[in-house]
Amino acid sequence: VFIAFEGGEGSGKTTQSRLLAIWLRDQGFDVVQTREPGSTKVGMRLRAILLDAAEKGLSARAEALLYAADRAEHVEKVIRPALHRGALVITDRYVDSSLAYQGAGRALDPSDVSKVNAWATGGLVPHLTVLIDTPPSVGLTRLGGAADRIESEPLDFHERVRKEFRSLAAAAPERYLMVDGTLSQNEISRIVQDRVREILPD
Ligand code: C5P
Ligand code: MG
Repeated sequence: VFIAFEGGEGSGKTTQSRLLAIWLRDQGFDVVQTREPGSTKVGMRLRAILLDAAEKGLSARAEALLYAADRAEHVEKVIRPALHRGALVITDRYVDSSLAYQGAGRALDPSDVSKVNAWATGGLVPHLTVLIDTPPSVGLTRLGGAADRIESEPLDFHERVRKEFRSLAAAAPERYLMVDGTLSQNEISRIVQDRVREILPD
């Protein structure tokens, strides 16, 4: 089983993916909790480039390809081997982040971003994607000023990102759970657990 968490800055994806991993491990499941970008050796170097505020002028296409390269390495070295041995995999960000940030955010053609990523991942799609939907004004405030290259984009960039995430979720409700990111941590984790329970192996 492959589960992705998606959402904007400060939406609480990282916290919720950790809480889900703990809950699943408590039930005896083999769980691999991972994230993008930066979960492989090369991925860590790509992450450093991608988040470096000094790389302000990075072209949109180069950015999209570097995220896709990180993801290709992530799928091949971490995600597929884990799924293959029967582990549950939880990733903090996946392809939808590229559709939202590089597609909607950077205004690249969404079908191009989608094709590049289908190729990069060999077509691996999560069984469930949890979208933690948070207004950017709320999420960015939670970060309290910590700003990497993307976080320091203007509010309308983050509004486009949010809108794209929401429309991806709306287009395939059987594969998505959209949760209100302004609820409490406990409420969100309970909603996530209720949905994940439905897709667990016995
Ligand atoms: O999730 P986290 O905050 O660690 O992500 C790192 C940064 O990379 C974020 O600022 C996020 O907006 C950015 N990002 C991106 N495009 C992606 C994935 C992440 O711009 N496809
Ligand atoms: Mg961030």
